Amino acid sequence: MALIVHKYGGTSMGSTERIKNVALRVAKWHDAGHQIVVVPSAMSGETNRLLGLAKEITAQPDPRELDMLASTGEQVSVALLALALQAIGKQAVSYAGWQVAIKTDSAHTKARIGSIDDVKVKADLDAGRIVIITGFQGVDGEGNITTLGRGGSDTSAVAVAAALKAAECLIYTDVDGVYTTDPRVVTDARRLRTVTFEEMLEMASLGSKVLQIRSVEFAGNYRMPTRVLSSLTDPLMPLEEEANSGTLISFEEDTHMEQATITGIAFSRDEAKITVMSVPDKPGIAFQILGPIAEANIEVDMIIQNQSVEGKTDFTFTVPRGEYDKALRVMDAGVKDLIGNGKIVGDTKVSKVSVVGVGMRSHVGIASQMFRTLSEEGINILMISTSEIKISVLIDEKYMELAVRALHKAFGLDQA
Ligand code: ADP
Ligand code: ASP
Ligand code: MG
Repeated sequence: MALIVHKYGGTSMGSTERIKNVALRVAKWHDAGHQIVVVPSAMSGETNRLLGLAKEITAQPDPRELDMLASTGEQVSVALLALALQAIGKQAVSYAGWQVAIKTDSAHTKARIGSIDDVKVKADLDAGRIVIITGFQGVDGEGNITTLGRGGSDTSAVAVAAALKAAECLIYTDVDGVYTTDPRVVTDARRLRTVTFEEMLEMASLGSKVLQIRSVEFAGNYRMPTRVLSSLTDPLMPLEEEANSGTLISFEEDTHMEQATITGIAFSRDEAKITVMSVPDKPGIAFQILGPIAEANIEVDMIIQNQSVEGKTDFTFTVPRGEYDKALRVMDAGVKDLIGNGKIVGDTKVSKVSVVGVGMRSHVGIASQMFRTLSEEGINILMISTSEIKISVLIDEKYMELAVRALHKAFGLDQA
């Protein structure tokens, strides 16, 4: 008998029929003698619908109220799943994040989990109940409902698994694992049987939305065995077969010794680039430009500063496209004094494409192969950033899919 956490995404919970299938699958695991905690997302489209309602009322909704609103999607799905389990004879109980409690900081719409109380959940499990906990939400120190950022149910699930010291966290979704790239963009993408934790962390942070990045951080920090697998298979398929399907995030350093240099290609469509022109080239400039952005909790990704000419330089960085206007707003006051007659220019039609693989550590020439492939397609590179196991380029958004396909082929990721 083991304690196992299941997470079901929006598509998996997308209709009452699907929820009944989830109940059958969960019941199968419970019947096999396991203690099961389930963390579902809102039904597909629901979070977008709720956020859309807020936008119909105001262009700049108050983040606290947005969380109050968006968190309701998950409350619907936990209750429906509890009912579906009860309807097939299982004891099940659902909880909202605050009832557990999943404690977070107060950064509304992108809160971070600080602690999770396991007492109530453990007592229910010991009493033979299946426990269902809302994904995506928590509660801050003042009792306000918070949410963890889009895709945050993954993080809820892995954090709950870590807090309960579960044997495994199974992330059920609408694909049957982690692929070499998004299978919706490249049809010959291949499923990976395993992916190292480091690679998954890079892929998630570079835009592969199959797992939210913080869920991967939790998996790494707590060494939680985490598997991504399909919820769209027959819910009554043999448990052994299901338990070994999908993609396991591995913590073994040598998993990829025999494999290709590049494991996958990630991309993020929604990037924006900001250039501050004619900045005096002196100490403290980067801090003066980026400090207010960090304070506003906006994540800055790529950064370049040009060679200075006559004591002046251009300073360019990228932010998520959704935060572009806010970044310009918070920067405005301080930076204007700094640049005098200089200008701030922006581009919101840029995307980032990255190649990822631990094999890069021991192979040279990956960057040149990447740049050659892009040049053969006539794609101009606007910015480059690298780490030990990834190379990212910023390009015009209209070439993003072309770049992903060309790189997938050039690195032989379509070959088994
Ligand atoms: P859920 O609602 O289950 O959380 P998401 O839509 O958040 O599902 O994530 C699953 C989707 O992630 C897939 O449908 C796929 O289009 C996308 N995706 C992006 N990159 C990858 C990848 N490398 N491997 C698998 N899926 C990916
Ligand atoms: N429902 C939330 C979202 O759509 C959380 C999640 O699905 O993981 O982002
Ligand atoms: Mg998701």
